[in-house]
Amino acid sequence: MACDLRSSFLFTQPIKFSKIPTISFYAQFLPCRCLASTSKSSSPIRRRRGKYGTSRKSINRKTYMQEQVEFTSPVPEDPVVGIIGGGVSGLMCASALQKHGIRCSIFDTGMHGLGGRLGTRISDNSGECLVFDHAAQFFTVSDLRFQKIVDEWIANGLIREWKGVIGELRGSGIFTAFPSSSPTRYIGTNGMRSLADSLLSQSDIVDIVRPCWISKIEPFNGKWILSENENPRGSFDTIVIAHNGKCANRLLSTSGLPLLAKQMKKLDLSAIWALLAAFDEPLPMNPVFEGAFVKGIDALSWMSNNTAKFHLTPQPDKAAVVSLSQCWSFFSTANYGRQTKVPQENIPNATAERVKRDMLKGVETALGSQFKPPFYTKLQLWGAALPTNTPSTPCIFDPRGRAGICGDWLTGSSVQEAVLSGVSLGDHIANYFKDGGGVTDEHEIGLHSTFQSIHGSEIGQFP
Ligand SMILES: Cc1cc2nc3c(=O)[nH]c(=O)nc-3n(C[C@H](O)[C@H](O)[C@H](O)COP(=O)(O)OP(=O)(O)OC[C@H]3O[C@@H](n4cnc5c(N)ncnc54)[C@H](O)[C@@H]3O)c2cc1C
Repeated sequence: MACDLRSSFLFTQPIKFSKIPTISFYAQFLPCRCLASTSKSSSPIRRRRGKYGTSRKSINRKTYMQEQVEFTSPVPEDPVVGIIGGGVSGLMCASALQKHGIRCSIFDTGMHGLGGRLGTRISDNSGECLVFDHAAQFFTVSDLRFQKIVDEWIANGLIREWKGVIGELRGSGIFTAFPSSSPTRYIGTNGMRSLADSLLSQSDIVDIVRPCWISKIEPFNGKWILSENENPRGSFDTIVIAHNGKCANRLLSTSGLPLLAKQMKKLDLSAIWALLAAFDEPLPMNPVFEGAFVKGIDALSWMSNNTAKFHLTPQPDKAAVVSLSQCWSFFSTANYGRQTKVPQENIPNATAERVKRDMLKGVETALGSQFKPPFYTKLQLWGAALPTNTPSTPCIFDPRGRAGICGDWLTGSSVQEAVLSGVSLGDHIANYFKDGGGVTDEHEIGLHSTFQSIHGSEIGQFP
């Protein structure tokens, strides 16, 4: 029997996806001083080309040589914002714009849903659903603005407290539970992805387009034209880059937004392996815990039991049996990720086998006991897992180029930081529109902020 996700309590999909309307953007030429002269590669030497057909050196050269685009036309009365990235920061940016009555389209690559690093993987094991949060595990709150948002999510049933035992595991099964006074931990009631998928509803003013990989941004006729592999995806008065890493660097390298591009290039990201594993029996542990930060083992930094976290039990009245098995998420350290890094889209079999072996061995060392191998495993490399440095600015906005950036990395490395960054950029853009879209110092934010290192756990800096 197939794992029917819709029939399970875990999976609600309130969003209907519509095609973005085709906009005629060749109608008239509005003033836009596009000074971007993308330097042509003049070198006859063949360079190693990256995934996107561009060498790292060529991206660097383009990034630093491009000239600034400057929009001089007034912002229209009913402006539209294009948001590239449907992780929680992009979604919250859209939500803030929606509250100001501003139209936007969100583009996201997600095949199975929105959320980016708020990800939940569901696998069908002969009719049984195996459920794993495979990036963000839980989040905490230290900011009153975020607390208000969290309270709404609780009221709407999107999240709940994770009351399971969590602590630190020091190897050989030496586990110390965190005190009950430690900050409240929240989880998506139906997994993190379901939280992301429920944050916005398709409406007249929010358009969600996925799966869609924006491969080009170009200023034209006083607007930003976004396209996916040469297919136009619409024109926008302002754009938001709500993702980071290689893809964002490439997108910005010929955009005419050198200041944004330079800030993005300074970001440094860790790589972390995620091993999802399902076992027939509970893992041997005493005391029993649901989540642990693991210390002193290179291949392992975090382990958590999704079956316990989601209170998954057999559902006799449902078509699908939801996880009788013990579904665990294991994460490596960033150090181990760096040492074993390979292209995340194309992991060689030998590397995958070695990493799986190392991580499972790490679990045995951490628990101080051996166990029967898992009957299901899925390995994933988060090549751009977590920021290791930050410009400490709530968001970035370039009023000359009418473009901004939001994301966790602008102030830290957690769900809270991503949410606050998205809201802050949405509000900032709304104020910019209200003021007529001129270029003033007060509209510019974060373009020259300097970066500092982030200190925190391997899977985020929890407030
Ligand atoms: C292994 C791991 C564990 C973590 N654990 C925790 C935790 O327990 N608690 C916590 O608070 N935080 C945790 N985090 C961090 C947390 O997940 C992030 O801080 C947060 O989800 C970041 O959201 P974001 O919107 O900034 O970016 P993302 O979630 O990365 O969103 C970016 C989105 O943009 C899309 N995209 C990229 N390029 C394009 C393109 N060209 N066109 C269209 N779409 C594009 C991507 O597919 C993605 O959906 C963890 C992260 C990792 C990797």
